[in-house]
Amino acid sequence: MTNDVADRTNLYDLAPQELRATLAEVVSPPFRIKQIAEWVHVHGVDSFDAMSNIPKELRARLAERYTLEFPHVVERTEPAPDGSVKYLSVLGDGNRIESVYMPMRDRTSVCLSSQAGCAVGCTFCVTGFFGAGRNLTPSEMLGQLFTVQHEHHVPAEMTNVVFMGMGEPLLNFDFLVTALDIMYATIAPKRITVSTSGIIPGIEDLARLDRRPNLAISINAPDRKRREEIMPITKKYPLDELIAALKKYPAEKGRDITVEYVLLAGYNDAPADAVALARLIRGLHAKVNAIPFNTDPNLPPWMKRPTDEAIDLFVDTLVRNEVAVTVRRSKGREIAAACGQLRGRTERKRRRVIPSVSEEPGRAGTRSR
Ligand code: SAH
Ligand code: SF4
Repeated sequence: MTNDVADRTNLYDLAPQELRATLAEVVSPPFRIKQIAEWVHVHGVDSFDAMSNIPKELRARLAERYTLEFPHVVERTEPAPDGSVKYLSVLGDGNRIESVYMPMRDRTSVCLSSQAGCAVGCTFCVTGFFGAGRNLTPSEMLGQLFTVQHEHHVPAEMTNVVFMGMGEPLLNFDFLVTALDIMYATIAPKRITVSTSGIIPGIEDLARLDRRPNLAISINAPDRKRREEIMPITKKYPLDELIAALKKYPAEKGRDITVEYVLLAGYNDAPADAVALARLIRGLHAKVNAIPFNTDPNLPPWMKRPTDEAIDLFVDTLVRNEVAVTVRRSKGREIAAACGQLRGRTERKRRRVIPSVSEEPGRAGTRSR
């Protein structure tokens, strides 16, 4: 008799060596185990019937004990002018998460969620606005990746993975590492980037791994005071301690740390802020990714995207201060790039009160522009 889905182990939740040990309970010749593992880790199949070189009877036996289930896609946006497509998927327990397909000239990036919500609560982020959610399992992270790869026919060797969707990946460390270990079967660690709000113990744990993904850090403000205003987590993991942890992070050739910096008009986008940011990250092997703020009705109304001129001035100032910088100008912007916004359109409101204009943090009137 077939077990209930909930009782069956999802093979995508098992680290590679665990998968082989688990399969050995039901499958005897070692070459069969290898074949099945290849269907899972290399081909990313979501049904046992797809395992065409496995005897039917064995496939049926596997299906009785295990599943290969992925999050179920419930909505795809129309492709944005840059080709990006955002996916909204529902999990077994009804939670909803987002992933994004981002085609580029010679490669494709897939942006994955690591949690169904986020407890960090950054004030500029829709995911943070809706509050904490549970950790995603390895199968739920891998399922997002394989779904996008299959739908867009993206070969693994052309795929970059970025954990920049919903959630804080380093607060889901163990499941993240299992998912990474499975991804490494087809995607090199240097093609995978984990973005964090600055969870120092998680960064230290990552530093100890033999195979490390690239690290992206959401700095978002050039000083401790402003960072604490918009990113509450920084009270627990202060900016100076974060920078010290990053300085200790093992530098690998050609693999700089990415410093993400959400540009908020009139708040952190002045040339003086660029100079302060350059000073802050001096000595780190880092490049800056400036991300113009994505507006959303759920976010404080004072938060605005800077003008293109202000963005250019900020970027030029960084460059003059010898900082390598890229700007995420339009990748998926038309489909509400920052994750959580698609889910946020339909989710019921409200955990947190939106600060009124008079509560606006920061430096009103101190801008030179
Ligand atoms: N929790 C991790 C990864 C997910 S957020 C982190 O914070 O790094 C991924 C990126 O989206 C972060 O750099 C974050 O600063 C940025 N982001 C969040 N909300 C945004 C918004 N409304 N506009 C632009 N970028 C945003
Ligand atoms: Fe969480 Fe990242 Fe959003 Fe902050 S920016 S609330 S850490 S998902």
